[in-house]
Amino acid sequence: MTEDNHAIGIDLGTTYSCVAAWQADHVEILVNDHGNRTTRSYVTFTDSKRLVGDEAFNQVGRFPANSIFDAKRLIGRRFNEETVQKDVKCWPFKVIEGPADKPLIVVNHKGEEKKFAAEDISSMVLAKMREIAESYLCSKISAKNAVITVPSYFNDSQRQATIEAGKLAGLNVLRIINEPTAAAIAYGIDKKAGWFKKRNVMIFDWGGGTLDVSLLSIGHGVFDVKATSGDTHLGGEDLDNRMVNYCVEEFKTKQNVDIGGDAKALRKAKTACEKAKKALSFSFDTDIEIDSWYKGEDFHTTFTRDKFEGLNMDIFNKCMEPVNKCLEDAKMDISEVDDVVLVGGSSRIPKVQELLQEVFKGKELCKSINPDEAVAYGAAVQAAALSGNVTGKLQDFTLLDVTPLSLGLESMEHDSSKLYMNVVIPRNSRIPVRRTTSVTTVYDYQESVTFPIYEGENRIAKDNNFLGKFTLHGIPRAPKHVPKFTVYFDMDANGVLSVSAEDMSTGQKKGIKINRDRTKN
Ligand code: AMP
Repeated sequence: MTEDNHAIGIDLGTTYSCVAAWQADHVEILVNDHGNRTTRSYVTFTDSKRLVGDEAFNQVGRFPANSIFDAKRLIGRRFNEETVQKDVKCWPFKVIEGPADKPLIVVNHKGEEKKFAAEDISSMVLAKMREIAESYLCSKISAKNAVITVPSYFNDSQRQATIEAGKLAGLNVLRIINEPTAAAIAYGIDKKAGWFKKRNVMIFDWGGGTLDVSLLSIGHGVFDVKATSGDTHLGGEDLDNRMVNYCVEEFKTKQNVDIGGDAKALRKAKTACEKAKKALSFSFDTDIEIDSWYKGEDFHTTFTRDKFEGLNMDIFNKCMEPVNKCLEDAKMDISEVDDVVLVGGSSRIPKVQELLQEVFKGKELCKSINPDEAVAYGAAVQAAALSGNVTGKLQDFTLLDVTPLSLGLESMEHDSSKLYMNVVIPRNSRIPVRRTTSVTTVYDYQESVTFPIYEGENRIAKDNNFLGKFTLHGIPRAPKHVPKFTVYFDMDANGVLSVSAEDMSTGQKKGIKINRDRTKN
């Protein structure tokens, strides 16, 4: 790599993003133009300008319907998904159904209505992170090459859309890596654990929008992910929304007005509630005060930690499900886990720490790495390693990751007309990976065969996430079960899938690289 082209690591978060670079044998977190080490993942369209980052966040009060956040909760998803429908009701900005069930964000900019896909918004945040890197490192340095992190539980279309966002931002995306894996790299380097005795480490990464849990074995520079689990729709934002709804209800009771539909009022409440939530991680009660919340009326309430926990207990309990699943999948007993590492802003919440400690029978949790910066730190190490820009111990650095969801084909079982999921790559398989399966026809003299591809853990194919399909035509006439096809599933190091099929009688081949609009053949 040349001196004037730096490889950077970007943690593209739901609520905050962070950028880091490997500099002279250490990782540096790159500070933004407001002096902050993390940057708000916000884009605000004012009457005359487009603002990105902290500047955009500072204007949300004035332009609530034009201030876009949570793009990560939309990226790679379909408008009619249940989670999207739920979110749309909470956001002060407008989201509509675009072509092919794609959600589009609608804003008013310079007097015109404009529509953006989630990846457009994410690309603006990524471009801002690149800008921060370039101005911090030196104006002459180009920070085009980047490793971007995603939740390990992101599916294929969410990963593809993130790569697309990177390209739109003018970045050369060296690799997409999983957030908990990146955090584990930071932990391994901090503890120097990666280079000495082998340790089993659980990363519990709970951020603004997603929860990721991974179990890794770290030793001699090798970061080996054993299993990963999570929820791409469970984060600090859900806690904020619960608190906002509570305040709206209380205001309704006290003042007899419903402000649920007022974007500006909801925005004010969200900012106040997030602040109170953070305070409750360190104190037992806090006040929420919103001046002139609605038509000049102020609002005041006291939130105790007990009240906060009671309001969100189901969410906290839900966080433990991926922890148990991850242990099960890795076939690891809690006694074999050496360290449980907390990452992500929401992991600071005492109740979550308490529940996690209960799972691990009172084990001390590791809080030594910076929960807001660890992911970008690890991404920067991987970026440097991929660019060949490291020296010393890091030259031995190897990352072995896994696929979070099972991948397979829809197929009909002999004794049934139901369409089942034939798993070709089981979840938690090491990536990159190639697996094959054999398929035959189900009718006599069938002339074509379609290969529908799914990801997920349900036995019934259609209950999983449909990724795409392709068809082989011109199959030589033969009774059912005679033609033979070999289907190849290839997943690359970014977790992106290609599937192809070969007619073994003719050698005819066809395939599909699963892409985000799920239509490409
Ligand atoms: P991340 O995605 O890791 O940047 O995490 C951001 C989320 O962590 C946001 O929902 C924040 O409100 C939340 N957060 C940050 N600090 C705290 C804290 N002290 N207590 C509770 N939540 C926090």
